[in-house]
Amino acid sequence: MTAASSARLILTRLHEVMASRAQPQRKLDQVVEIIGESLDSEVCSIYLLREGALELFATRGLNPDAVHVTRLAVGEGLVGTIAANVEMLNLAEAASHPDFAYRPETGEDRFHSFAGVPIIHRARAIGALVVQHADPRRYEDIEIEALQTTAMVLSELIAHAGLVDDEHALENDGGPRILPGLTLVKGLASGFAVFHQPRITIDQVVADDIEAERQRVYRAFDKMREQIEHMASQAEFGVGGEHDEVLETYKMFAYDEGWGRRINEAIDNGLTAEAAIERVQQRTRMRMRQIDDPLLADRMHDLEDLSNRLLRIVSGQLGTAATQGLRRDTILIARNLGPAELLEYDRRRLKGVVLQEGSLTAHVVIVARAMGVPVLGRCEGIMRQVSDGDELLLDADKGVVTLRPSQAMAEVFDTRFAKSRERQAAYAEMRDLEPVTRCGTRIQVMINAGLRDDISMLAMTGADGVGLFRTEFQFLVSATLPQRERQTRLYRDVLEAAGDKPVTFRTVDIGGDKAVPYLTSEALEREENPAMGWRALRLALDRGGLLKAQARSLLEASAGRSLNVMFPMVSEPWEFDAAKAVFEDQLAYLRTRRKQLPEAIRYGAMLEVPALAEVLEQLEGRLSFLSVGTNDLTQFLFAADRANPKLAERYDWLSPAILRFLDRIAKGLAGTQIDLGVCGEMGGRRLEALALLGIGYRRLSITPAAVGPIKELVRKVDLGELSAAMAEWLRRPPPSMRVALGEWAEARGIDSE
Ligand code: PEP
Ligand code: MG
Repeated sequence: MTAASSARLILTRLHEVMASRAQPQRKLDQVVEIIGESLDSEVCSIYLLREGALELFATRGLNPDAVHVTRLAVGEGLVGTIAANVEMLNLAEAASHPDFAYRPETGEDRFHSFAGVPIIHRARAIGALVVQHADPRRYEDIEIEALQTTAMVLSELIAHAGLVDDEHALENDGGPRILPGLTLVKGLASGFAVFHQPRITIDQVVADDIEAERQRVYRAFDKMREQIEHMASQAEFGVGGEHDEVLETYKMFAYDEGWGRRINEAIDNGLTAEAAIERVQQRTRMRMRQIDDPLLADRMHDLEDLSNRLLRIVSGQLGTAATQGLRRDTILIARNLGPAELLEYDRRRLKGVVLQEGSLTAHVVIVARAMGVPVLGRCEGIMRQVSDGDELLLDADKGVVTLRPSQAMAEVFDTRFAKSRERQAAYAEMRDLEPVTRCGTRIQVMINAGLRDDISMLAMTGADGVGLFRTEFQFLVSATLPQRERQTRLYRDVLEAAGDKPVTFRTVDIGGDKAVPYLTSEALEREENPAMGWRALRLALDRGGLLKAQARSLLEASAGRSLNVMFPMVSEPWEFDAAKAVFEDQLAYLRTRRKQLPEAIRYGAMLEVPALAEVLEQLEGRLSFLSVGTNDLTQFLFAADRANPKLAERYDWLSPAILRFLDRIAKGLAGTQIDLGVCGEMGGRRLEALALLGIGYRRLSITPAAVGPIKELVRKVDLGELSAAMAEWLRRPPPSMRVALGEWAEARGIDSE
């Protein structure tokens, strides 16, 4: 008999047992008989995790009285070691292993050889399957393989029958875990873990028709390779923030014959396609645990991603958690997310996001901030260590997430949460207080928005208006190009909701990491540097129809009111002129049609491209206002891709280079009619806002959550004193601007955070 056919025979017998109507305990009793017999082992036992310990549940060969009596802690004895390390053991002489713990009630002293494998469910050990033999011999690889396959079949039975501790109590080390990350959006949240790409449930483990399973895997591989080739040819691959490097690795694995072969072997042994993929994945995970090389471990993660993709294809369980809907308070877990993907989630249920990657100014983070959802990024290990449904406490203020918290941890968190709510409430009380400095200067504090619902934040925060309305959000959430009527409706709703507070609409900023498939198809020849590529106003001017439609929508929506419109990524003054001309043409057209026109129109530009700062004098008389987009500006000044997680923490907004640049802009425009402000994320952070005030910025458009804290800060500042200090620091920068400003603030009773 070949190895495969004997494995298949075991599986068939197991399958019969599993399919029978016997009680779970009876099934386990039969399983140990089948395995013991097939592997010619005197002993075969199953230990399962119950009430935190590994309990002997069934045995052939050990003293039957020990069943449900012998219990080992996780980490205790050989069985406990298998479960703790989620690793198999294969020993010719069990007693010589340092972790061996003799249990007299079992009568196992007669047996020398020992082999055991973990029973794994959702990447955690829920028990162990063990064989023992009187002769000292090591079990062969093929026997270990049979044990592992059996363990896999058992895991389904055990989990379904509820024989082990509730899933959430199952941790490798039995306890909670705290993982650090990088704060991307501050805030606290608690909820249950949901994977953006849900894990697959495997309904059938044993194959009915091996050839059919093989064909299913072939087809799935073909489809997966197709998807990857497609991704490689798409400019919007960048949407998910995934990188070429990942794509290359995907390709390498997708065409790796070894991987396909191992899956096929598992099918030969009698598993279904899904179970075979999972089985190989388990084996990879085990290997991964032994690898200390972070580079290789990263690669293994990519393989895991791909393996999940293959599982999704083969099982037909496609779609993200958003399409399945959130059922309770959720903390979303993902390797990375695109802004459009995040917007698909139900805002009432989505409480927080934890990303394995992510960076501070990536658009997904801006969207999350707009949604008021705290985000922790660069959280190493989150994908591995969390299970679907785990309870999580996200403290994005401190930059940590707690998995499966203990009672005490939850209590401490609740206290912090309550305090933070109190602080929010205190900031909310600032709503009606004006942001006036101690020296009497009125600062304009506005909000950045992008969704209709965001406008309610005006009333909640008492902000002066919307300094940046990102019109592209509507494009990002649509599957097709939003038609003019839909655009008009949104703009009208926004203006109505804002009442008499001003709203500055920014024309679409698409491209870069905000690719939309229906618009960027021309860029399908992938751009090398999308952030510096055909995006924002560049794309809008080349696709005249797009800007025309938007101009008409904005003009119509503002009938009888004032319209403030600004153009993103203006690099040279003529681009501003060309964009303005599109609006003026549409205005002329509406005039001929005798339509009601806006009462007033103010045109402005965003300063995001450093080149524009060199020609400030040419802007005079052309535009009414200028808004510095520090997110893009700093990525260009430092030549550091804002979406690249590796650069997320590298440069500081409070660097002399950036501050001197911003200072030069402020000085260049002083005394002109051009109204200057900042609308990047920088203005919403306290020390950064302080620096901006110190170099002469008087209008900040920021994330709504920051309005309270920034107003409070403004009211404590004396601008004369602050600008003198800033001028000195810019002339002779201290070793750390952040430290200097922080100390200055603290000395005046102003919190840095
Ligand atoms: C910016 O670049 O600073 C900005 C506000 O625009 P966005 O973040 O949408 O690119
Ligand atoms: Mg920008």
